[in-house]
Amino acid sequence: MNITCDVIRDLLPLYHDDICSADSRTLIETHLDTCEDCKKELEKYNSEIVGGLNMNQTVHLDDAKQIENISRAWKRDKKVSFLQGVTFISILGSLGATLAYNAHGSYVAPDGRLVEAFGFIPLAFLFAFIAIISGLSLAVLMLIRKFKG
Ligand SMILES: [Zn+2]
Repeated sequence: MNITCDVIRDLLPLYHDDICSADSRTLIETHLDTCEDCKKELEKYNSEIVGGLNMNQTVHLDDAKQIENISRAWKRDKKVSFLQGVTFISILGSLGATLAYNAHGSYVAPDGRLVEAFGFIPLAFLFAFIAIISGLSLAVLMLIRKFKG
């Protein structure tokens, strides 16, 4: 049976992917032994496919790495800005409660109880406590970040 180069070249992708029948394989190999052009075609095919795949994989890896870095930085920033917000609001709250207490004041009721409207003092302490905790967390986070680079 006389097989043209065109037929062989049609079969080369299947041969390359190893999904052709044993008969086709034998046929192609027999032809490749005698035909330099088709041999070159197969080599070209091989290098193109392999090169293309490798390049794509590298690009995908780079993309994944970049996305991972961005999301990590974003998560870190989110944490930092969350703590900054909590610290800031807590300081404001503490100051506000202290100021409100000073403005509103407290008085001793006739029965000797200290009457203090809206619980400003405990509120001021609560806010101050939160501010200290989140401020410390923020400082630790910043230090970790500095050392990690
Ligand atoms: Zn040929």
